[in-house]
Amino acid sequence: MKANCWMGTRHVQVEDVPDPKILNSRDAIIRITNTAICGSDLHLYNGFVPTMKRGDIMGHEFMGEVVELGKDVRNLAIGDRVVVPFPIACGHCLQCEREMYSLCENSNPNAWMAEKLWGYSPCGIFGYSHMLGGYAGGQAEYARVPFADIGPIKIPDNLDDEKVLFLSDIFPTGYMAADMCGIQPGDIVAVWGCGPVGQFAIKSAYMLGAERVIAIDRFKYRLDWAREKAGAETINYEEVNELEALPQMTGGRGPDHCIDAVGMEGHAPGLEGAYDKVKTNLFLETDRPAALRHAIMACRSGGTVSVAGVYSGLIDKFPMGVIVNRSLTLRSGQCHVQRYMRPLLERIQNGEIDPSFVISHRLPLRNAAEGYEKFVNKDDNCLKVVLKT
Ligand code: NAD
Ligand code: ZN
Ligand code: ZN
Repeated sequence: MKANCWMGTRHVQVEDVPDPKILNSRDAIIRITNTAICGSDLHLYNGFVPTMKRGDIMGHEFMGEVVELGKDVRNLAIGDRVVVPFPIACGHCLQCEREMYSLCENSNPNAWMAEKLWGYSPCGIFGYSHMLGGYAGGQAEYARVPFADIGPIKIPDNLDDEKVLFLSDIFPTGYMAADMCGIQPGDIVAVWGCGPVGQFAIKSAYMLGAERVIAIDRFKYRLDWAREKAGAETINYEEVNELEALPQMTGGRGPDHCIDAVGMEGHAPGLEGAYDKVKTNLFLETDRPAALRHAIMACRSGGTVSVAGVYSGLIDKFPMGVIVNRSLTLRSGQCHVQRYMRPLLERIQNGEIDPSFVISHRLPLRNAAEGYEKFVNKDDNCLKVVLKT
């Protein structure tokens, strides 16, 4: 089959690779129809995540048709159209029973690698380094899906692929980011990052009762998207310092909740940006946390900072004093996608949201490299790339 492979930093290539096979009785093989490139894939592409190997198959946002089933998968049938959640989760361990699926204790065969970095291991993730299981990803014609009796959900015939594809990751991720804020009616929420995750965080904050959502980025077309398609007020931080603008826009108190939808490759103008560049180049910090620092600084006293952006390691100049002295709550996590898929599918069915509003580019899988370049450079007004097999 054809698959998009990581070949080194800033280098992906579609290669011929062996077809996946059923290895365990709870596996399914999916023939992929649609798959997407995620902001998290950019961290791999840019070489920010350790333990990638040349030839690894990328991708964790995918859907398709069930073509083969292990004998213990009884809730799916050959021919079913399914969306697959990115965290691989067994459904029966302590964490899965608490619906903390991205912390599944049984799905990372390389847990020892993650333990070295993080103390304990989270779940395995499709196409996301050897430290997180070394699983082949879904930017391919086929994928093996472990624990297929727990993860994938069947999609009703009347919903197009593009409406449901993002149940695999970014819709639940944006929703969980808003959910973690504990939004009360009338609250104001600020969202750093107007990428796809930020766009879903904005929409979800409104769904959960926010009165106003203020979105921050520097790319005009992404800010326009946030305003016109997601309904946010916007700040371009290259034109106005958001740390000055936000108090003015919120009666001097600050937004009730702040969402970081940027993660470890945050950009910052001036001295702060230069500082993080030098420090990461010298391996004195691993991540560039500008958005996180600002989200903490800007938040109303007693508010919540919700971190959907992915961080991998160690950061500098972390304003802990703000968190303690202003009673902030910090919440985070890789999304527990399985917890949100069904309720969010219902919201799509009810017509409350059409997640395909984020798609800017549709390309054949063979053009995956072009998709990565456009997405990483924010070229050609690229917001979200869907690859078609
Ligand atoms: P993206 O690269 O399209 O978007 C990131 C946006 O952040 C860009 O528009 C960029 O201009 C903006 N940005 C950079 N620095 C900023 C700053 N200082 N202030 C404000 N905006 C800034 O990526 P995406 O697909 O939207 O993903 C966003 C983040 O969410 C990534 O870190 C990704 O890894 C993470 N993510 C997390 C999960 C999870 O389960 N927690 C799932 C999916 C993605
Ligand atoms: Zn993702
Ligand atoms: Zn589990």
